[in-house]
Amino acid sequence: MTTPDRRNARSHLFYQTDHPRPVLDRAEGIYMWDTDGNRFIDGSSGAMVCNIGHSNPHVLDAMRRQMDKSTFGYRLHFVTEASEALAAKTASLAWPGMDRVFFVSGGSEAVESAVKLARQYALAIGQASRWKVISRFPSYHGCTLGALAITGYDSLADPFLPMMQVMPKVPAPRAWLDGFNPDDPATGRYYADLLDQKIRAEGPDTVLAFILEPVGGASTGALVPPAGYMEAVREVCDRHGVLLIHDEVMSGGGRTGKFFGAQNWTAAPDILAVSKGFGAGYVPLGAMVARGDLVDAVLAKGGFAHGFTYAGNPLACATGLAVIEEIERQDMMANASSTGALLKAELTRLMDRFPFIGDVRGMGMLLAFELVADRDTKEPLPPALKAFDKLTEQAYSRGLIIYPRRSRGGYAGDHLLVAPPMITTPAQVGEIMDRLEPALAAFA
Ligand code: PLP
Repeated sequence: MTTPDRRNARSHLFYQTDHPRPVLDRAEGIYMWDTDGNRFIDGSSGAMVCNIGHSNPHVLDAMRRQMDKSTFGYRLHFVTEASEALAAKTASLAWPGMDRVFFVSGGSEAVESAVKLARQYALAIGQASRWKVISRFPSYHGCTLGALAITGYDSLADPFLPMMQVMPKVPAPRAWLDGFNPDDPATGRYYADLLDQKIRAEGPDTVLAFILEPVGGASTGALVPPAGYMEAVREVCDRHGVLLIHDEVMSGGGRTGKFFGAQNWTAAPDILAVSKGFGAGYVPLGAMVARGDLVDAVLAKGGFAHGFTYAGNPLACATGLAVIEEIERQDMMANASSTGALLKAELTRLMDRFPFIGDVRGMGMLLAFELVADRDTKEPLPPALKAFDKLTEQAYSRGLIIYPRRSRGGYAGDHLLVAPPMITTPAQVGEIMDRLEPALAAFA
């Protein structure tokens, strides 16, 4: 592989770090090429976004067809066939009764829309004292100030603390780290009881909602809830009249084997937020999906005081619809389950060789492994060894992209996400492992 010229334009401000990176030229399926001709396997679908793979011809056709018709219609003036069709399709994929869809351009907007609908619903039914949104630590719900106030990720929030009303947190159900059996329903109840205690401590009539990532994303490293947790949390919320919001920004879109990650269990939310795989990286797209009676109550009191200029953009909606059509036509969710199980077995096999892999977890094509200094004590990697950049560079130099998450501020875990597109074949799992294993060996 040639060494790419990593000098980037100074005018381009990067996120978190100005670590230079190669210039993307083109992408197809699970592969991406830079302008020097180097080929990469997209082993994390970007940031768990490009679920259906790159340059899907059906989606590109749908985009071209929509562009020939219209690319913008302001939501106060028009709906479009694309936005109507995507709303109906999305509602049909959600739980019965969750039949109202509000389009946005990304995950933070989807989360904030969910929180704002919840608050306006509380006002509409005469419960103005409810405003607190309890979330989990660690968690990630977005970077805008409203979403950041509920995100459990200290180093991202710290600079802005004087500008935000930081919301209460409960521990994420990290059974592995806390030494509990994730398959024991008592574990799920234990973490749900912590929520119950938190709501009581805050004062139930002040608590508006509880938000969780059904299958954790970057924040918890593909954390799968312990047995009974999702149902127990639903019961706790109902007991206190607290709304339940599912942040499906990363777990939605099919990657866990179901269109919404929480559909792997039985409990329904009241409101959900989805993005990433919803537009699959072809366009900026997200949505809030809500129970119809919540929306009706808000509309009856004068309307939803919220909105974004690009909400319901026709190109974005036509693309989102084509993405779902492709997921269904190619049975990608079934492949995410079966090939994801193969990939997980391969990652688990690595534990025999590399003692610094503490845990392998996740479901479908949303997988992660956690790195530790000692597997038995779960002692975190010492700071000097937190050479994540080294490990991702090792993978990178072998043509594999994986997604690192380093613990910063509070122990959030040091993990790497392996989450290739849902179209990945068993042979391509082999290609991923052929690059990942030597990268880990070079890291050790
Ligand atoms: N919620 C979750 C679970 C996420 O993973 C993310 C992004 O990683 C967000 C919200 C924020 O999405 P965006 O970056 O599109 O605003």
